Amino acid sequence: GGKAYSMMVRCRIPGGRITSDQMLAQLDLCDELGNSTLKITTRQTIQLHGVLKRDLRDTINRINEIELSTLAACGDVNRNIMCCPAKNADGVHQEMLQLTDALTEALAPQTPAYHELWITDPDTGEKTLQGGGPVVEPLYGPTYLPRKFKIGIALPEDNCIDIYTQDLGFLAVVRDAKVIGYNVLVGGGMGTTPALKRTYPALAKRMAFCTPDQAVDVAKAVIKVQRDHGNRADRKVARMKYLVDEWGVEKFRRSVEEYYGQPLKDCTEDDVTGFDDHMGWQDQGDGLWSYGLNIENGRIYDDEQRQLKSLMREICQTFGTELRMTGHQSIIVTDLQEQDKDRLIEIIQRHKVPTTEQTSTVRRWSIACVALPTCGLAITESERRLPSIIDGLEQPLAKLGLDKERFTVRMTGCPNGCARPYNADIALVGKAKDKYTLYVGGGWLGNRLGYIYKDLVPDADIVDEIVGIAAAFKANRNADESLGDFCDRVGKDDLAVLAAAAERP
Ligand code: SF4
Repeated sequence: GGKAYSMMVRCRIPGGRITSDQMLAQLDLCDELGNSTLKITTRQTIQLHGVLKRDLRDTINRINEIELSTLAACGDVNRNIMCCPAKNADGVHQEMLQLTDALTEALAPQTPAYHELWITDPDTGEKTLQGGGPVVEPLYGPTYLPRKFKIGIALPEDNCIDIYTQDLGFLAVVRDAKVIGYNVLVGGGMGTTPALKRTYPALAKRMAFCTPDQAVDVAKAVIKVQRDHGNRADRKVARMKYLVDEWGVEKFRRSVEEYYGQPLKDCTEDDVTGFDDHMGWQDQGDGLWSYGLNIENGRIYDDEQRQLKSLMREICQTFGTELRMTGHQSIIVTDLQEQDKDRLIEIIQRHKVPTTEQTSTVRRWSIACVALPTCGLAITESERRLPSIIDGLEQPLAKLGLDKERFTVRMTGCPNGCARPYNADIALVGKAKDKYTLYVGGGWLGNRLGYIYKDLVPDADIVDEIVGIAAAFKANRNADESLGDFCDRVGKDDLAVLAAAAERP
């Protein structure tokens, strides 16, 4: 027998919307064919880990049977499109989700290879062959894109999908409760390669305005520019951010306009002003309620202390409503009646899962990538380590009076940046065995990159370093200044001096 290779299977779930039945089926899959856990990713999708290679076809078929797909969840094409997951009857959110679906369809690879390779006819058990023969992708061409491609759709007052980290972002411009168009941002991306100076994280740049009708074709034009001009010689600098930087956003825009066929208007003034993580009770505006439940690092599992997996099952079986996954790896239960509210909280508490109200602010605003033991690129721990780091921070932060202070803590097991560390208030990026690069000075708004505060911080010193930063912040902050703003203002050297001098709790 061959080696039992263990794989990761990631779904495509645009805007993070999933029915209760689909969630139940995913939970069954992880028990039967995976490692008995599910991971909600930072792109609002679900990953199954520990799927054996021999079970891959079965797994992918079952995902397709529940009307989800793994198509274009990986590879050098457009990935899962992120969109604000809040369920809200205001019309604006529906319009954004319609664009999410239109883009998902328009940008999906047309190749029959996916079906030929993976999908079995449920009646005959035969593989579905759809004609065959060489097919050239109408959008992607014979060689696809130089690299993966990420899109996100956000609102100015709610940047919960982190628009500045996307290759292509659509920021809704709303007038009189209607989306009149989008400010189009291009060239964001987090991934870097250690020790390669020519790779770096970048924020997207504001390029131009488009109307809702233009959005799909503008996206195609942007993708074509990257397809034809992105770097194919050097995969390390093949993401679109390097092309946008090399050309400058004006030249890039002219090229997009050429492919699109006409000039675009300039961006409106609208820009990011807020970030709603959608946790706790939210009035949907249609008489129904949503409840955002913080899932620590997006991991759904059962153990002696906590029964998150059983909790998800019971929520799905009891209410049967749509769930939505956030870009912060958490879940929104939607369409609850007023009389369901107490029942949901009772179910959560019976499974010993902290409610959002019982979760500390620092934990609620933290996220971590998979890293060890599952991710092949991981240099350090991340998901398995962050909860204990947060444990260590909670008391000192409370003693400093900062327990209600909102700031993002993001951790990754390598510089690839899957948990979007480089624009966070505080980030830990795995650099060497048990050693992390500590970034500060980004912010929860997501529109500023942080800087390296200290490199190669030993695992054992992490909590103390962050408490020092928090103590310096407490003693020296300006009124209404956020942690990230403070770190950005004082800069690396002064922050180190202030942290050393600050009184620890
Ligand atoms: Fe893996 Fe690195 Fe991504 Fe974490 S950031 S999941 S370690 S590739």
